Amino acid sequence: MPCCQYCGAEVGEDAVVCHKCGESLIGDDAGWQEFHIQEKIDRANHRANMYIISAIILATVGIVAGWVLCISSSAVGLFGIALVCLGVGCSASADRHEHKARNLKRRLRR
Ligand SMILES: [Zn+2]
Repeated sequence: MPCCQYCGAEVGEDAVVCHKCGESLIGDDAGWQEFHIQEKIDRANHRANMYIISAIILATVGIVAGWVLCISSSAVGLFGIALVCLGVGCSASADRHEHKARNLKRRLRR
């Protein structure tokens, strides 16, 4: 039984990816490997975009709600502050995914 070179799990003779860690098991096939990494980059970029959009929406709604608090001193404003915090969290997640995509691109170039 062959083993995964990344996590050491036992894998089937003709397995293409490791069932445990998901890494490609056909490292010799550079073309396939490249495709696999490209796919990961696309996915990371897509997630980063989704988080950026969410961050913009949350921050915008949050700022509007915060402004409502200023003029009406209602609880809506507190809700707005929470949304702004969520937006900041989303942009941090977007950053993380962009970083991941950059790292994968570097691996692809090597
Ligand atoms: Zn593995």
